[in-house]
Amino acid sequence: MSVFKTINHDVDFCVVGGGLSGLCAAVAAARHGLKVALMQDRPMLGGNASSEIRMWVLGAHGENKQETGLVEELTLMNYHRNPYKNYSIWDSVMWEMAKQEKNITLLLNCSCLDAQMNGSRIASVTGWQTTTQTWQTVRASLFADCSGDSVLAPLSGAEYRVGHEARSEFNEENAPLKADRQTMGMSILIQARETASPKTYIPPVWAEKYTKEMLPHRIPDIKNDSENFWYLELGGTRDSIADTEELRDELLCIAYGMWDFVKNDPENREKNANFDLDWIGFLPGKRESRRYTGDLVMSQNEVQSEGKFEDIAAYGGWPMDDHHPEAFRTREEPTTYYPAPSPFGIPYRCLYSRNIENLFCAGRNISVSHVTLSSTRVMRTCAIIGEAVGVAAFLASHYSETPRGVYKNHLKELQQTLMEDDCWLPGLCREPSTLTKNAKLASTAGSFEVLRNGNDRPIENEDNGCYFEIGDFAEYSFDKDTHVKRARFVFDSDLNRDTQLEGSIYKHPMYSTYYLNTQSCHMPKTMVKDFCLTITMADGEQKIIEKNGNYKRLVYVDIDLCVKAIRFQPLSTWGNPQAHVFSFEVE
Ligand SMILES: Cc1cc2nc3c(=O)[nH]c(=O)nc-3n(C[C@H](O)[C@H](O)[C@H](O)COP(=O)(O)OP(=O)(O)OC[C@H]3O[C@@H](n4cnc5c(N)ncnc54)[C@H](O)[C@@H]3O)c2cc1C
Repeated sequence: MSVFKTINHDVDFCVVGGGLSGLCAAVAAARHGLKVALMQDRPMLGGNASSEIRMWVLGAHGENKQETGLVEELTLMNYHRNPYKNYSIWDSVMWEMAKQEKNITLLLNCSCLDAQMNGSRIASVTGWQTTTQTWQTVRASLFADCSGDSVLAPLSGAEYRVGHEARSEFNEENAPLKADRQTMGMSILIQARETASPKTYIPPVWAEKYTKEMLPHRIPDIKNDSENFWYLELGGTRDSIADTEELRDELLCIAYGMWDFVKNDPENREKNANFDLDWIGFLPGKRESRRYTGDLVMSQNEVQSEGKFEDIAAYGGWPMDDHHPEAFRTREEPTTYYPAPSPFGIPYRCLYSRNIENLFCAGRNISVSHVTLSSTRVMRTCAIIGEAVGVAAFLASHYSETPRGVYKNHLKELQQTLMEDDCWLPGLCREPSTLTKNAKLASTAGSFEVLRNGNDRPIENEDNGCYFEIGDFAEYSFDKDTHVKRARFVFDSDLNRDTQLEGSIYKHPMYSTYYLNTQSCHMPKTMVKDFCLTITMADGEQKIIEKNGNYKRLVYVDIDLCVKAIRFQPLSTWGNPQAHVFSFEVE
């Protein structure tokens, strides 16, 4: 019996791990009405994206492939609130998204370390909250493991995998001949700050000492804004869970030694004189450990054939970026990039446990082979996977189904709901509401029928949006007085802004080095900022709803009136002369 008290929570859905996958799973489920607990062992949300680790949130390559849904909402909120890309503000943006959701009980500083089972179902999980010295027990009918390390797998007896599969298992060209337990390693990052005067640095005695010859493929260049020291990596040949503390100590000796090289190596001393050390992470960011075994294990050939699954629930589009297990201790290249198509579909059957009935997984721990993980692990991908799990949990709860039951009986609804929530599912089209389809649509803007075609982004070479001059309008009218609950809009957040172009303010979601002349960021100019709805009611009276300072891509406006017509008029954008709109619908 513990001397510390236990607090019990009863919810519909418990998410363990508050990286971007866990955050999106929790928020998606909560917005659909589930009572959710989000248990996160750190003081902040975001996992590898948070200020404790500072990795860039990246995703699918190529034109118009950028992920939308909740991860886009977070990104746009960050552009709006955080023009100088400050990590403390970014932490608050992620925290705010969960904290403002009334259906989420947020349990921070709470490490999940036990699960109570009822046969092959998880009945509850328990975490230790350090700050309050309290046990937090969460009972729920559905759980999602978004902890990266799959802590609920050993606790529940869920099947999982570690390391490389043998080439023969899935016939994967990139896999080694023999299976092994090696993984990609973990890293701590360094941030530098350019200052107006020279800064000295005295390394600690325990730091490693390097010369240029000792650092093949790893010469740091802090004048390059893409330098974030990701290759300060270890652990692939060890146990990436059990050995983390020892590996962190070794990584610190490497990182402080690397900064010594940047500052004091004879070739660097002068050119880097004005750079100061801003930050070194003390918490290694992990790339790989346990992966769940789901109803399907997605492998390399399925990535390469574009993942054309009937149960597509998310997509990837990052190359297969497979790190050398010896990482910093090899003289070879730290990683090998194998091309992957962008996009490739990720099936829903990879997002729940094969043998634990009420357990989802999302993030880097989904049911994929090591080779596939080397692509699916990037965070915009993890975020849309998390959102898919949150929506699936809502449907499972609504229909009293298991995660597998959602696959068998409610797959189409899962996909339609995801697309309604602005998650793109390549190859599928959203069904607009019957009200929208049956209404008469008139507009002063060109090609306005695209506003209700169920595609919310450019498709192939088709722009698929409607351009409004300021003053133009689009209007739905109805044959008879009709109740309209709300209007739905998808504005253009410029999915090609993150083109990695030199000089683009969107090149990196956050900065790794802070330069003296660092540019500020701003909302994409394509976005609608102010707009107005003119509602003609049954009695002929008109009501005007004006929305100002919008920074969201997916926007709902509550109406809840009996109406004859609804007119939408953009009033301004964040910079472009015309407003570009993908969708305007009513429901
Ligand atoms: C150095 C490095 C460079 C990378 N580069 C990129 C990049 O440039 N772009 C990109 O998009 N991705 C990059 N990745 C990959 C990406 O960061 C990860 O794959 C991704 O963060 C996985 O998301 P996740 O939500 O599954 O896990 P995480 O982001 O790790 O989040 C999981 C969270 O769960 C918490 N947790 C763990 N155990 C428990 C527990 N028992 N109880 C409660 N909470 C728990 C963790 O503390 C963590 O906050 C990189 C990774 C590393 C390490």
